Amino acid sequence: MTLDAQGTKATDRAGLNGQAPRCDHVDQPSAVAYGPPECTACLALGRVWTRLLVCLSCGWVACSDDARGGHARAHYEETDHPVVATLEPGSTWRWCYVHRRTV
Ligand SMILES: [Zn+2]
Ligand SMILES: [Zn+2]
Ligand SMILES: [Zn+2]
Repeated sequence: MTLDAQGTKATDRAGLNGQAPRCDHVDQPSAVAYGPPECTACLALGRVWTRLLVCLSCGWVACSDDARGGHARAHYEETDHPVVATLEPGSTWRWCYVHRRTV
């Protein structure tokens, strides 16, 4: 297992009182308009998805890592847009790919 193969710099101030460092990515401006509730990449491949995530930077909708595609992660790797949320109404779950945790 090589868990530290990438992104180790993000944890430079971890460990204070056991608290993870604050994620400032969530303070960045959020997209106000979201795309349709579907993963266009999966649709093109004829796949199904289990859960959809929306990029808070640009409103791009794609499937989560639960599915084979992981297209939301692919979007992050292409664009460096760091934070995604679920499309479920009322859900406050958000995930930061840079810090690799919920925020
Ligand atoms: Zn973050
Ligand atoms: Zn997908
Ligand atoms: Zn985006």
